[in-house]
Amino acid sequence: MARVVITGGAGFLGSHLADELLGRGDEVVAIDNLSTGNNANIEHLLALPGFTFVEHDVSKYVWVPGGVDAVLHFASPASPVDYLKLPIQTLKVGSLGTHNTLGLAKAKGATYFLASTSEVYGDPQVHPQTEGYWGNVNPVGPRGVYDEAKRFSEAMTMAYHRSHGIDTRIVRIFNTYGPRMRLDDGRVVSNFIVQALKGDPLTIFGDGCQTRSFCFVEDEVRGLIALLDSEEHHPVNLGNPNEFTIRELAEIVLEVTGSSSVIEHRPLPTDDPTQRQPDITRARDLLDWEPQVQLREGVERTVAYFRSIV
Ligand code: UDP
Repeated sequence: MARVVITGGAGFLGSHLADELLGRGDEVVAIDNLSTGNNANIEHLLALPGFTFVEHDVSKYVWVPGGVDAVLHFASPASPVDYLKLPIQTLKVGSLGTHNTLGLAKAKGATYFLASTSEVYGDPQVHPQTEGYWGNVNPVGPRGVYDEAKRFSEAMTMAYHRSHGIDTRIVRIFNTYGPRMRLDDGRVVSNFIVQALKGDPLTIFGDGCQTRSFCFVEDEVRGLIALLDSEEHHPVNLGNPNEFTIRELAEIVLEVTGSSSVIEHRPLPTDDPTQRQPDITRARDLLDWEPQVQLREGVERTVAYFRSIV
């Protein structure tokens, strides 16, 4: 049993993590400023004795009374649409928020767990991406606000590990999808499913030949907890290595939903990565972790969720 602080605890991943940790008997303190998080994700937890919710922006000083065993820093706008809308907040939560939450972990003698991202690889010139690849990021492009904030947060986490001896973890999360994604977060999986269910055109950006590798949230969270329970300080990729073009994803969504939506092409966003696939050798070796839910099944389960809220 542990007492765990989750920043971004009302978000997509943070709330699933809270469920899993509470399920195994841990106490959870969820902190969220609800800028992209959603109360509905944690409504079912509010009455549980092991769960506390604090509405707070971790870019500002953070304090949690009592003992803390682990601090999981998941707070950040994380979809391109969200971080392009909130560029300065994204830079602040990745930099100041990381510094503040590392300070909390240091004060409590807690393990620190940083949610980093495949975006640290930018538009990768090495494929698939191994943790040893340093990336190809445009620091001054619109996506730089997220990519550089996360790159800074990794550097800060390693500095606290090396200088203060903090027990740290860094996960690089690749595209993850599933129930509790926001309808309007702008990500490709949520966009396509909502468009298909409404009979609206599916919006493919560019020619749709760019690739992503999509991990179902249940697999991702199992990997996150395995990493938390490990002793690995260096970054670990967690994602599903099965790679699809965006066009293939659109076809799967149309098949699963039975929708007759047409496809419309829109301009490709600036610096949109052309390919992305995690090399998960380290996760396999260190955590004995492997995704189990394949794209079609994951899309079916996500469609069922969206049908219940659209
Ligand atoms: N995309 C798309 N249509 C949409 C939303 C996104 O074609 O309605 C594309 C986007 O250009 C990118 C990929 O889908 O190539 C994944 O985009 P997403 O926003 O989900 O996340 P990213 O992997 O870019 O962070």
